Amino acid sequence: IFVDRTNEERRRRVLVLLNPKSGSGNGREVFNMHVSPVLNEAEVPYDLYVTKHSNFASELMSTRRLDAWCCVVAVGGDGLFHEIVNGLMQREDWEQVLPNIALGIIPCGSGNGLARSIAHGYNEPYFSKPVLGAALTVISGRSSPMDVVRVQLKERSVYSFLSIGWGFISDVDIESERLRMFGYQRFTIWTLYRLANLRTYNGRVSYLPSHQTGQGVGGLEGMQEPTLRMLQSSRSYNTTLNKQQLLNVPASFHHSVECLPSEFADVISLETSINQSFRSRCDSWLSGGSRRSYYYSISESIYHSLADESDLAEQSQIYAASSYLENRPQNFGPPSSLPDLDQPLSPEDGWQVEEGEFIMMHAVYQTHLGIDCHFAPKAQMNDGTIHLILIRGGISRPHLLSFLYNMSSGTHLPEVNNQYVKVLPVRAFRLEPHDNHGIITIDGERVEFGPLQAEVLPGIARVMVP
Ligand code: ADP
Ligand code: MG
Repeated sequence: IFVDRTNEERRRRVLVLLNPKSGSGNGREVFNMHVSPVLNEAEVPYDLYVTKHSNFASELMSTRRLDAWCCVVAVGGDGLFHEIVNGLMQREDWEQVLPNIALGIIPCGSGNGLARSIAHGYNEPYFSKPVLGAALTVISGRSSPMDVVRVQLKERSVYSFLSIGWGFISDVDIESERLRMFGYQRFTIWTLYRLANLRTYNGRVSYLPSHQTGQGVGGLEGMQEPTLRMLQSSRSYNTTLNKQQLLNVPASFHHSVECLPSEFADVISLETSINQSFRSRCDSWLSGGSRRSYYYSISESIYHSLADESDLAEQSQIYAASSYLENRPQNFGPPSSLPDLDQPLSPEDGWQVEEGEFIMMHAVYQTHLGIDCHFAPKAQMNDGTIHLILIRGGISRPHLLSFLYNMSSGTHLPEVNNQYVKVLPVRAFRLEPHDNHGIITIDGERVEFGPLQAEVLPGIARVMVP
């Protein structure tokens, strides 16, 4: 295997994140036997991190300097990939990092919708050797833009690359966990159970139809002034820091440091009182790089200098800094173009509504939700479109059964929407359940139940392709 690499590329390594608990728990063996030989043969240098717990990958992606790596490869399932995307989107410098780091996946999970969708989109065979195929994808060095969907829940935002579900399919996914001992059969068993005990959910789904102009629709509104927004978010961040995180910090921490922009004064003063060499480092940060990266260097260096101080007298500072790191607002991602979740949506802005009884709502942006679930055959990774699929209450059981049965071949959706099954290409939607309980999933993981709204961020991530 010969891969021509420029010196620039050779200097940047591949970051491999491996979830040892994915799928049947043999990710390490799969990596050692089938992936690392390919990387070695192609002389692709890599660093391997095995995740130690849930959220390990998102913490790493949100807090580390990533300059050394050209791409991140998840060895695991969609859940691990979800953590990587969310970690990246929590960075203040997400806008710089995202286009410069390609994301790859080596399918080892029980949910491998993304890997299956990528293979499908490039007419690659999947079933014979999915892991080898994905490893070859990693060394190919090719990548393509991918849409990411920003989902606003009541208390937080989540970024999603696969799906948002409410009702039947999410119920089967989550409730069948109790049948894990049946392996993959659990889905079939629970589907039949749920079909026999069919539930409907009351709610309202509002949506903005997408402009049907084909692939790669539109740019992200408001992306024109990234620097300004960064500064604004830094400023609001510091207000929060003043009022909350720094309340218990001794007054000596609050002197200002005139050599850096005032937005960073609090962060910096916290460090100054601890580390004498700080000022010289401030100067070097100021003389090179962009403003945004100072912020990162600063927060990282606070963390490291405090982590080194183990002496008891410094406990309060350590507490202050770690609570600041934990509580820093996670809202650095792109600003939303939608009204707040508790504000009404106006038909004049193009919002349309479906209201009443539903069997399910599933919003997807990849072709496959799993290796044998060809859910949205028309989806493209970079079409700027959320494929919103609704099944209304009142559908007959045979009709629903045939829908569920045909999902594996992708022949379940009607050519023309009917009374019960609707396929809506949208760029944003809002779900307002009228019941007070139920199951909602994002990328196959359960999230808190309640209203949510979602909007597509066209092509903001880059994913490795064959
Ligand atoms: P699967 O497809 O089998 O569910 P994933 O790789 O998607 O496999 O991982 C499932 C979940 O495991 C993810 O939500 C992730 O947060 C969590 N996870 C990641 N690393 C670990 C670990 N070391 N121990 C336990 N859970 C982990
Ligand atoms: Mg899409």
